[in-house]
Amino acid sequence: MTNQPLPTLQSWVAVPKNSDFTIYNLPFGIFQSKRLSARVGIAIGDKIVDLSVLHEEGFFSELSQLPHDIFLRDALNDFIALGKPVTRRVREKVQELLVDENDSLKEHTCRGKAMVNRSEAQMLLPVKIGDYTDFYSSIEHATNVGTMFRDPSNALLPNWKHLPVGYHGRASSIIPSGTPIFRPKGQFKDANMDAPEFGPSRRLDFELEMAFIVGKSTKMGDSITTVQAEDHIFGMVLFNDWSARDIQAWEYVPLGPFLGKSFASSISPWVVTMEALEPFRAQGPEQDVPVLPYLACESSHSFDIHLEVYIQPEENKASKVCTSNFKHMYWNIAQQLAHHTVNGCNVNVGDMMASGTISGATPDSYGSMLELAWKGTKPISLEEGGERKFIEDGDTVIMKGYCKKEHIRVGFGEVSSKVLPAK
Ligand code: MN
Repeated sequence: MTNQPLPTLQSWVAVPKNSDFTIYNLPFGIFQSKRLSARVGIAIGDKIVDLSVLHEEGFFSELSQLPHDIFLRDALNDFIALGKPVTRRVREKVQELLVDENDSLKEHTCRGKAMVNRSEAQMLLPVKIGDYTDFYSSIEHATNVGTMFRDPSNALLPNWKHLPVGYHGRASSIIPSGTPIFRPKGQFKDANMDAPEFGPSRRLDFELEMAFIVGKSTKMGDSITTVQAEDHIFGMVLFNDWSARDIQAWEYVPLGPFLGKSFASSISPWVVTMEALEPFRAQGPEQDVPVLPYLACESSHSFDIHLEVYIQPEENKASKVCTSNFKHMYWNIAQQLAHHTVNGCNVNVGDMMASGTISGATPDSYGSMLELAWKGTKPISLEEGGERKFIEDGDTVIMKGYCKKEHIRVGFGEVSSKVLPAK
């Protein structure tokens, strides 16, 4: 945890009050527009800095490792693979160019070309995701699910406090914010049914999660320690792990989630770097069962990230249904990555690892409809009338996340996706 006074920076770019994209944030993303092919940008206020223009004009000339076309690619993988000394310096250089006192970009003839309106840009997936893993690291979520489906007095399975439980998910169906999804179809057999039936899921749910992006590859046989872990993490995004509860409940024994999860996951398009998150390092929950040495941590790897979920029915106002925080996670990102690689499994730049549903202690902080409406027994009321047990066709689910400390705000923007009827 940092106790140093936080710096005060002012940008010549107008940043609206409560913007997530302040001079302190400067997240990386991939955008395109009617005029521009896919490329790398950094968000500030309502603008995107087109890094390819800055590079072409020589603003990064001190970084000889940067290939001339590194910012004209449709994914961040090659840039991230250059390593933190390079990616960190690029972000710092952009920060230097955007502060009030610096005229070099502000007064440069390329300024108009370098600053793109966010409203004119379409955001794409920030990375090519080779592999996706989903953890199950919130003790409140695991306890709630165990209470509902198994035994309230034995909600956590015996392994839960000894290792961060996870499963290998599906990378092909991870999509950027704004992309609608189709209601999945599949098999389900509810308790009152004699035989399984096939059809559109009747219990479509979201899962409020965050995901980190691997920033440094490893070789097979190698493991990442909890001390090394953050050096292997480039940054984070918001993650909606869409889940069909009826399909999931019928299929998951004994090998875990499959078609109830693999049909879609939605992410926010701006990758907030670990450097930007540094001021928001927080104390995570105490781990009251001692962990094996490879999972022990010398320092904190939790972050204070305020999270919200909204449901917006078609042609209606959005209702906030959940307020949570990433710092509630029992297992942290360093432990997740250490555990993932302890067997010698190699990881690659662009791999995505999601946290698991982020529930807090109070009923309004539960990160899924399954928990919020308690298996359909306590429907959630919406602001403009109506209620929800699960997500209906036409609903848009919106997740937002930001960190705030003193005068500094660093946010993730949002991940928003609409549910369309089954195809
Ligand atoms: Mn999940």
